[in-house]
Amino acid sequence: MRCICHPSLRRFARYLRMLGIDTACLPEETWTQMATGTEKVIFFTNGSSVSPPEGAYRITALRVRDQAREARRIVHPYICREQILSRCLDCNDTLLPVARNEVEHKVPEHVFHEIDTFTSCPSCGKIYWRGTHSAAMESLISDIFGIPPEDL
Ligand SMILES: [Zn+2]
Repeated sequence: MRCICHPSLRRFARYLRMLGIDTACLPEETWTQMATGTEKVIFFTNGSSVSPPEGAYRITALRVRDQAREARRIVHPYICREQILSRCLDCNDTLLPVARNEVEHKVPEHVFHEIDTFTSCPSCGKIYWRGTHSAAMESLISDIFGIPPEDL
């Protein structure tokens, strides 16, 4: 399953990527061709869309947390615990493990000393690690998507 979002839902798309869901932001004109493959595609459009494509879910909330809550029921069956925090929030690429010595000068010094495991995005090179940032994301995920923190 993958999700395609209206370009106005860019921040909402990052929330879906946080969950590990393959999520792209594309103009509505391109959606018809995106739905032709065998893979299930869920489309999310915004409240101002005049003629949303058939089967698209219309997200009406303006605040990103409320948008995520609106989509909770739709995406919940596709949330896989192992996939959470496995994608680049910017590029949607799957993060790959990176050797600790390769990140030494790319992350803050205290992070390098405190954290053992790092991943990076093959597209933009951004380095990710389980630290305060992901702890905040995990509590956000459990709050919005109703996943117990122990399952993250
Ligand atoms: Zn990236």
